[in-house]
Amino acid sequence: MNAHAPQPAACDVEIRPERGQRAVFCGLTSIVWLHRKIQDAFFLVVGSRTCAHLIQSAAGVMIFAEPRFATAIIDERDLAGLADMNEELDRVVTRLIERRPEIRLLFLVGSCPSEVIKLDLSRAALRLSQRLAPEVRVLNYSGSGIETTFTQGEDACLAALVPGLPEGMEVDDDLLVVGALADIVEDQFARLFAELGIRARFLPARRAERMPSVGRGTRYLLAQPFLTDTARALEERGARRLAAPFPLGAEGTTGWLRAAAEAFGIDPARFDTVTAPGLRRAWQALAPYREKLAGKRVFFFPDSQLEVPLARFLAREMAAELVEVGTPYLHRAHLAAEIEQLPGGTRVVDGQSLDDGLDRCRAARPDLTVCGLGLANPLEAEGLTTKWSIELLFTPIQGYEQAGDLAELFARPLDRRARLEV
Ligand code: SF4
Repeated sequence: MNAHAPQPAACDVEIRPERGQRAVFCGLTSIVWLHRKIQDAFFLVVGSRTCAHLIQSAAGVMIFAEPRFATAIIDERDLAGLADMNEELDRVVTRLIERRPEIRLLFLVGSCPSEVIKLDLSRAALRLSQRLAPEVRVLNYSGSGIETTFTQGEDACLAALVPGLPEGMEVDDDLLVVGALADIVEDQFARLFAELGIRARFLPARRAERMPSVGRGTRYLLAQPFLTDTARALEERGARRLAAPFPLGAEGTTGWLRAAAEAFGIDPARFDTVTAPGLRRAWQALAPYREKLAGKRVFFFPDSQLEVPLARFLAREMAAELVEVGTPYLHRAHLAAEIEQLPGGTRVVDGQSLDDGLDRCRAARPDLTVCGLGLANPLEAEGLTTKWSIELLFTPIQGYEQAGDLAELFARPLDRRARLEV
């Protein structure tokens, strides 16, 4: 572990870089929500039996129809030679497309085993794309645990989509919203933007042929804080990011919508009229949870990269106390509007080391610990109350109508602990 000296942030938030071991799921996990979002896409993981087990158990309980993901398992037979592996991959893809003719977009998703790393999936994607065009487009990205944490899988997937997006106009009157949102949340935001007089397009779109265009006139809002590579790819195509907080909680949602409204020259009075009903409902929904969460001491382990916006929500809207906000990676520019709203003195640990974080957490004995599944059970056994951070990705939490659900996700473990103690 290389701990560096703490750095004061502009608003006296302490940002401390740290390096060490982490305990997070790999980027394959994001297939669980991405395959539901892009309805004619298929995710073919090229990996080991471990990868197949991970994706099956992460998604298994949520599948009600034939899944749009699978694993091409690399086994001993494939180790004979790379040429065979390419042929085998082509065979698997051909069979898949014959059996599932509705597939329009196929992602080859790389993983950790060295045999997979040696396989050039970008060449395989190009070769298969040429063979299957125009019906099916084949793209590739890595979900390997060596390179990605679980939300970075979405980043890698969306970044892979960007080069193939249609060319946009020099002057673009539409807003591009970037990041996978539950359909219900996307519909609510589309309605709010329409009432404001802004036409919004979403990346990813629900269908492959409806992916939005991007160009020098495109202004985009990030809906998720973990889209570093996607943002870079969009900017390489000339798009400009609108600086904003993330749409979590009443204030976060208002700040996010306001960033778009200001960029598109929407009259502030109209903005207030359009947002007032949602804002009122959000505060009403939050009120009962504020009573439960106010004054509670919360510790974040690094997992989803949602930690900083969630901490801002808990501190400002729920009056919780932040013991430490660990995050796997802190993008200072994308999170600037969040960091400046954290209470003074908040400790944000960028790349928090597992061992050091555990020591500090145990010493602090927080009321609520937000962490990955792997840490939750041992910490519960030590008497700490935990919240699984992965649930925050599987549950619709963005926007005014979901603000109460977001607060409830944090209040529920405290309720459970209170009942157990009774
Ligand atoms: Fe597969 Fe690597 Fe993820 Fe394990 S960490 S499931 S080997 S991609």
